[in-house]
Amino acid sequence: MLFEPRISLECPYCDESIYETLSWFKKDYSTCPACEQGLASGQFSVLIANLEKEMAANIEEMVNGQPPTSCCGNKSSCCA
Ligand SMILES: [Zn+2]
Repeated sequence: MLFEPRISLECPYCDESIYETLSWFKKDYSTCPACEQGLASGQFSVLIANLEKEMAANIEEMVNGQPPTSCCGNKSSCCA
C-alpha cells in the first residue's frame, strides 16, 4: 500500500484551506473545492517543496530514533 500524505494548503483565491493528497496539489491543473477556481501546480510548488523538506527531516528523525544520550561519565558501569 502506498502511503500518500495528505496536506493542507490555502487556496490563493479564496484562502480556504484545501486538504488533499500531495499528488493532488502536484497535478498540472486542479480546481479549488471551495471556490472552483482553477489551480495550476506551479502555484503550490514552493509550498510543496518546503513541506517535502520538512517531511524528509521528520522521516530522518524517525529512522535515526532518539538522539544518543551522552554518558554521565561518573560511573564505570555507565559507559560500558
Ligand atoms: Zn478557492
